[in-house]
Amino acid sequence: MRTITVLGATGSIGQNTIDVISRHPNEFRVFAITGHSKLDALVKLAVQCSARYVVLSDPDTYQDFKSLMQAANCHSEILVGAQALDDVCSAPEVDTVMSAIVGAAGLLPTLSAVRAGKRVLLANKESLVMSGQLFMNAVREHKAELLPIDSEHNAIFQCLPRDFEYGNLEKSGITKILLTGSGGPFRSLPESSFDSITPDQACAHPNWTMGRKISVDSASMMNKGLEFIEAKWLFGLHENDIEVVLHPQSTIHSMVQYIDGSVIAQLGNPDMRTPISYGLSYPQRISSGVEALDFPSLADFTFSKPSKSRYPNLYLAIEACKQGQSATTAINAANEVAVDAFLNGRIKFTDIANINEQVLQKSDSIELTSIAQVLEHDEQARSLAKTILRKLN
Ligand code: NAD
Ligand code: MG
Repeated sequence: MRTITVLGATGSIGQNTIDVISRHPNEFRVFAITGHSKLDALVKLAVQCSARYVVLSDPDTYQDFKSLMQAANCHSEILVGAQALDDVCSAPEVDTVMSAIVGAAGLLPTLSAVRAGKRVLLANKESLVMSGQLFMNAVREHKAELLPIDSEHNAIFQCLPRDFEYGNLEKSGITKILLTGSGGPFRSLPESSFDSITPDQACAHPNWTMGRKISVDSASMMNKGLEFIEAKWLFGLHENDIEVVLHPQSTIHSMVQYIDGSVIAQLGNPDMRTPISYGLSYPQRISSGVEALDFPSLADFTFSKPSKSRYPNLYLAIEACKQGQSATTAINAANEVAVDAFLNGRIKFTDIANINEQVLQKSDSIELTSIAQVLEHDEQARSLAKTILRKLN
C-alpha cells in the first residue's frame, strides 16, 4: 500500500492522478490533496479519495471552503498556507508525492518532498527549469526517487536501459534523445494570422486536454522548450544530445536512438493517465483506464522539424538552456508573466515571444548557488517582464 500526497489535485494532472488512484483502492491511499482555487472540485476530490488532509494554498479561501466541506459532510482535516504544503509533502506517513502544481509555485513544496527523500512524481517541469542543478543535487543528497510524469520524459525513461547511468549516454550506446511534440493548434495556421489568436483558440489543443497555462505553452511550443531543459536535467544530457521532432499525431511520446541504428519509442493514446500510472506503480504496471492503441485506425504517422519563425519560443528556451541556469530561470518567469497577460487579454499571442526574448537579453547572467537566489532571480525577471508588458499596453 502506497500513501500519496497530490499537489495541485484540482488541476488536469491532479484529477487524472486521483482517477488512477481510485481504480486501485487496495494499492494506494491518499494522505493529502492540495488546491488553490476551484473549491467545489477540491471538496469533491476529498470525498472521492477520502483524503486525510486537504490543503488550501490560499488561506483567504478557508471560510468558504469550510462551509462547502460541512455541506458535503466531508471530514478531511483542512490545513492552510505554504508551511502546510511543505508538511504534507514531508510527513513520515507519505511515501509518494505527485508534484502537479502549475508554474513556479510548485518549486518549494516539490523540494520539500525531495528533501524528505520521497518518491517524487514530477509533472511540474518548471521546478527543473528554475533550479535544475540545485534540484538534482537535492535529489541525490536526500536519496529521493525522481520519476518523470511529463509524457515525453516518461517515454524517454521507459526507452532507456534500466541500468542507464545519469549523463552517460556513451556507456549505453545512446546517440540521441528525440523529444516529440505535436506543434499545437497553430501548426498550419498562416503566420500572418498569429497576431489575432485568442486565448480560447490557444487553449484548444488538438490532442491533449490540459490546464490553460501549459495549453498556451504548447501552442507557442514554449512547452517543448521547457521540456528540452527538463530533459537535460532529468537525464544529464548535453544540448546537442536532444533533437526536437514535430509529430502532430501525438502517438509517439518520445524516442531514444542507439548507436546500432535502433530507435526505441514509447507509444500510446495521448492520455496522461498512462505516465501517471507508470510513476505510481513503477517498476510494476497497473491499469490506467487508457484505451489500447488501435493500429489499423492510425491514419498518418508524420515527422518534421519545427520552424523557427512559427515557434520562436522553442528556440529562445533552447538558447536559454545553452546559456545556463540564470537564463532558464529568467525565461520561465518571463513566460509565466506573459502567458498570464495573454490569457487575460492584455497582450497578443506574438507578444509572448517578444517579452521572453527581451527578458532573456536583459537579465543578468549570474551563478545561482541557492534556492533563495533562484527565487530572487525569478522575482527580478518577473518585474522586468511586467515593465516590458506595461510598455506594450
Ligand atoms: P492546471 O492549471 O490544470 O492545475 C494546476 C494546479 O495547481 C491546480 O490544482 C491549482 O489549484 C494549483 N495551483 C495553481 N496556482 C497555485 C499556487 N499559486 N499555489 C499552489 N497551487 C496552485 O495545470 P496542469 O495542466 O494540471 O499542469 C500542472 C503541471 O503539470 C504543470 O507544471 C504542467 O506543466 C505539468 N504538466 C501538465 C500536463 C497536462 O497534460 N496537463 C502534461 C505534462 C506536464
Ligand atoms: Mg509534455
